[in-house]
Amino acid sequence: MKNINIAIDGPAGAGKSTIAKMVSAKLGFIYVDTGALYRAAALFITENNVADEDIEKALAGADISLGFVDGVQKVFIGDRDVSGLIRTPEISMAASRTSAIPAVRAYLFDTQQKIAAENNVIMDGRDIGTVVLPNADVKIFLTASAEERANRRFKELSEKPDCPCYEEVLSDIIERDKNDMERPVSPLRRAEDAVLVDSTTLTLEESADAIISIIREKTDVQ
Ligand code: C5P
Repeated sequence: MKNINIAIDGPAGAGKSTIAKMVSAKLGFIYVDTGALYRAAALFITENNVADEDIEKALAGADISLGFVDGVQKVFIGDRDVSGLIRTPEISMAASRTSAIPAVRAYLFDTQQKIAAENNVIMDGRDIGTVVLPNADVKIFLTASAEERANRRFKELSEKPDCPCYEEVLSDIIERDKNDMERPVSPLRRAEDAVLVDSTTLTLEESADAIISIIREKTDVQ
């Protein structure tokens, strides 16, 4: 039987990963966070000081992959688990820049399609419904206002040492939105057949419930 693929796209901080994890747990799907792949590519490029023109060649030997341990996604460069290292504001910004480079997108494309072909997945990212899985069974575009997204990110970061101030978090979000939406290759945009979910005034549970209802309506999944 064909696997069921659910695509969730949207801007940084819309709650995609938290909500997609909740929905996957409820439906028994694998959750795939494609941002982690772009972050790992950015980490690889940064650590190895790879110049833009050398990226295609360097990535060919990078061996970036995803693994699942008890249903939890881990990202690897070779056999090094970099799942923690990729979650810094510096790597967020680096990923936002390097993800616009066609060689980076081309390198990660097959990895994403292969996982979706082999599993029932909820895959989140920026171009899943438009480019990676154009035939996904369900497409969701999850968004929220930039201020609300910055608020949420600020709360997460304020639990860590050296947290940036709210204004810095907001300006990072706005800059990443701009980079993601204005890049010529695979820009962030809502697929024509994607259902819009605006989480600005919704709790995580309400957003997850809204998405589960959409999935149940459009597929046989119960
Ligand atoms: O989702 P997350 O914020 O972890 O993604 C990090 C960066 O990777 C994003 O800012 C975006 O530029 C890029 N990305 C992308 N396409 C995806 C997923 C992430 O370009 N499918």
